[in-house]
Amino acid sequence: MSRKLRIGVDMDGCVCNFADASSKVIKYIWNLDLKREDIKVPRTVDIVYYDLFTDEQRALYPGGPRDLYSLICPREFFYKLDPFEGAIETLKMLCEKYDVTIITKPLEWVNCPSEKARWLKKYLPDSKYELIMTGSMEVKGLIEVDIMIDDDTRVIKSLDGTVPIVVRQPWNEEYLKLEADYAVDNFSEVPAIIDEVLESIWLY
Ligand SMILES: [Mg+2]
Repeated sequence: MSRKLRIGVDMDGCVCNFADASSKVIKYIWNLDLKREDIKVPRTVDIVYYDLFTDEQRALYPGGPRDLYSLICPREFFYKLDPFEGAIETLKMLCEKYDVTIITKPLEWVNCPSEKARWLKKYLPDSKYELIMTGSMEVKGLIEVDIMIDDDTRVIKSLDGTVPIVVRQPWNEEYLKLEADYAVDNFSEVPAIIDEVLESIWLY
């Protein structure tokens, strides 16, 4: 019997709306207006925001960007993240049909991992999936899946023999202009693209 297709799925930027939630927090704390569209490169959120600070603001955080992290992502932040529209229904569908491995990189190893795990249980109480957490984006490429769905170009570039499906975000726009990877505007378009990938594989 042939095995099921193995699908790797990232969380933040694909199914969880991390960017909009963190933008709301920084607007509240620092009155800085930064929209998802303004984030042009995949970088850790605290560095993105720290770069926008004035020298006076930076002086308040002598530890640099990492000092901002606990303010932007307080306890339960990840557990409370909103899913993108249609993402949960799609993910449930994928779990039924394929071997799904959620592959995510926590921003820290104290609260974030359990919050992410609980988030998945909250939204996918009856679905079967594996959960793998990695220490870097690049190391995601070592996990053996047939197709990897991710928004981060560091992950996409690390894949070796795995077909990427890129969830379009402002931070991968430049990359997608140059690479002919499979891409979707929204996670709910993923099943149709998987069919397209399979069709192209069978053609060869
Ligand atoms: Mg991501």
